[in-house]
Amino acid sequence: MDTTSFRKKAVSVDSVEAVPPAVTPPPASNGETSFSKKPSLRVPKARKRDIPQGIWTKCPKCATMIYDKELDENLKVCPKCQHHFPIGSRERLNALVETCSFEEMDAGMTSVDVLQFTGVAAYTAKLAEYQSLTGLKDAVITGIGKIGDHRVALGVMDFAFLGGSMGSVVGEKLTRLIEAGTDRGLPVLIFSTSGGARMYEGMFSLMQMAKTCGALAYHARQKLPYISILTHPTYAGVMASYASVGDLILAEPAALIGFAGPRVIRDTTQAELPPGFQTAEFLLDHGLIDAIVPRKEMKSRLKLYLDFMMEGQRAIAKAS
Ligand SMILES: [Zn+2]
Repeated sequence: MDTTSFRKKAVSVDSVEAVPPAVTPPPASNGETSFSKKPSLRVPKARKRDIPQGIWTKCPKCATMIYDKELDENLKVCPKCQHHFPIGSRERLNALVETCSFEEMDAGMTSVDVLQFTGVAAYTAKLAEYQSLTGLKDAVITGIGKIGDHRVALGVMDFAFLGGSMGSVVGEKLTRLIEAGTDRGLPVLIFSTSGGARMYEGMFSLMQMAKTCGALAYHARQKLPYISILTHPTYAGVMASYASVGDLILAEPAALIGFAGPRVIRDTTQAELPPGFQTAEFLLDHGLIDAIVPRKEMKSRLKLYLDFMMEGQRAIAKAS
């Protein structure tokens, strides 16, 4: 009898030991215990995944998060601090010309790799990359359109295409635009943004400086106005040619404008540069540009300037 009860007891002890005690937490699959897990911290991560990318943009000047749609509607200008974000050439054109009035010129013109340039990447590969990235053939769009009542020969550069660099296509398209303006008696307007001449094309890009300025000289002989609008950034070969010879030179607020960059100048001259050097505001104070015009006022201000300048041109034509 005693033996039987002892055996029964032994069986029941064995069965208890086979099941882990309820108070012991089961080991986590990654070896961590529940004490090191912080499930509450995972919630924001999951929420972050729910927000689609590319809907908000942080303003680099005031750090405000701006809804992309609002930024687009505001012509890529921060509604809080008026910081001017880069804007594509098509968007700029749409904001400027009257609806359906723009006839593009030389839309299919593309660069040729005359020098068969190969560096870090081949020029042909770079061109193909930027053409698919931007949907543009090169760094400028040109054509005839209307701003208010004025027909104008309008060129708009795009920094997104190889840094807005001026190669043979940019030079040729602008030259043809200026010549069309001369032939048809139209004012020429060019919105510049560029890192300078396109080094992939060597001398072929540098000669565009003389070519565009030559065409502008013929345009000026007809007493026709040329308005140059400098946007952020406008540098080097472009600034040293057609961008700086406008009858009227405008700039967008805080645009950086210059020939060589500040670091190169500082290293060459070994001199400290003044604060705000090469900004549109600095250049306005020093007489290089005539006015700073915020992007949202650009169209109305251009209409005003064109009214005035074309009235003068008509008076000259009548007198001669
Ligand atoms: Zn801002």
